[in-house]
Amino acid sequence: MSKCNKIISMHSFRSFVSDNHSFLITTHKSPDGDAIGSASACYFFLKNLKKEAVVLLPDQPSDFLLPFLQDVKYHIYESADDDLRTKILGVDASIHMDYNDPSRIGEEMRVIFNSLKGPSLMIDHHPNPSQFTTLSISKVTASSTAELFYEIIEINAFEDYVDNQCARGIYLGMMTDTGSFRFPSVQAYTHHVLERLLSLGLNHVEIHEAIYDDNTLARLQLRGFAIAERLELLQGTPVGIITLSKEDLNRFGYKKGDTEGLVNVILSIKGVQIALFAQEKEDGVKLSFRSKGDYFVNDFASKYFNGGGHKYAAGGESKESLNVTISRFKSLVNELL
Ligand code: 5GP
Ligand code: MN
Repeated sequence: MSKCNKIISMHSFRSFVSDNHSFLITTHKSPDGDAIGSASACYFFLKNLKKEAVVLLPDQPSDFLLPFLQDVKYHIYESADDDLRTKILGVDASIHMDYNDPSRIGEEMRVIFNSLKGPSLMIDHHPNPSQFTTLSISKVTASSTAELFYEIIEINAFEDYVDNQCARGIYLGMMTDTGSFRFPSVQAYTHHVLERLLSLGLNHVEIHEAIYDDNTLARLQLRGFAIAERLELLQGTPVGIITLSKEDLNRFGYKKGDTEGLVNVILSIKGVQIALFAQEKEDGVKLSFRSKGDYFVNDFASKYFNGGGHKYAAGGESKESLNVTISRFKSLVNELL
């Protein structure tokens, strides 16, 4: 899957956009706020430039992200038929946001990279990007892909094409990837972008409410149960784990998105510096790792759990049972300490 990849400067984005008319925008599987925020911001930006744009997502996003896709033309690869798939790939160029490797869009959708004819551009902030597009803009120190996207816009003096909907996407991505502007990834530039977005008249309160005040009673009860009954602190270590089985999830009528952010609750316990949230899925276990201070989780996730991510926020998976997965984690945890 390796392509002849060229790392381009942010300035080169200007010619990439002006040389092409129709664009496909993609982002990763189980899209989070930064994925949907970046993709929707890019969509509205291109529309404001009078370009054609369409977003292609590997799978259905959680409901709480749907308000940000309301006026976006998008398709879900999983449920698209062959005709639509072929048609979508006939664009002049494509932009791939918030992922650093084709495995992040899943086995099925990664085949698009064999069919896309025009230039493809990765815009991302994850470490160790692989060469799967023809062009790439990578900035690991950016707090979010959305922030990086704004920086590209600003460097190219494209701010006039940032309307309210584009601004909402950028804010959504920045807010969710920085834990509401509190993680170490936040820089002075992050606040500069916020200043620009608020000057445009962005209603930030509406975005916080859409994301954080969208709980159902069942979701809150599931979270309460997870904390009361399924949270374990590993004695003598700064490690905390929450484990939820399919049975636990069914008991509270689990819907996609219900456990989002639960891993951060573990990290909010005084003394905990490494958090693992493990959730049983149909085909294995999905793992979310978070850390603080001198503890880094991405290499561990990549080495032992077929995953990766950032220093302080990574994910992975296991094809073994929940119990076996947790035992394996416990036997390996010293490597994190
Ligand atoms: P989350 O725990 O929210 O699912 O993911 C946290 C971060 O870890 C994401 O930003 C993403 O970069 C990364 N990540 C999550 N799952 C995977 C995975 O299965 N593989 C890789 N390479 N990275 C992942
Ligand atoms: Mn991101």
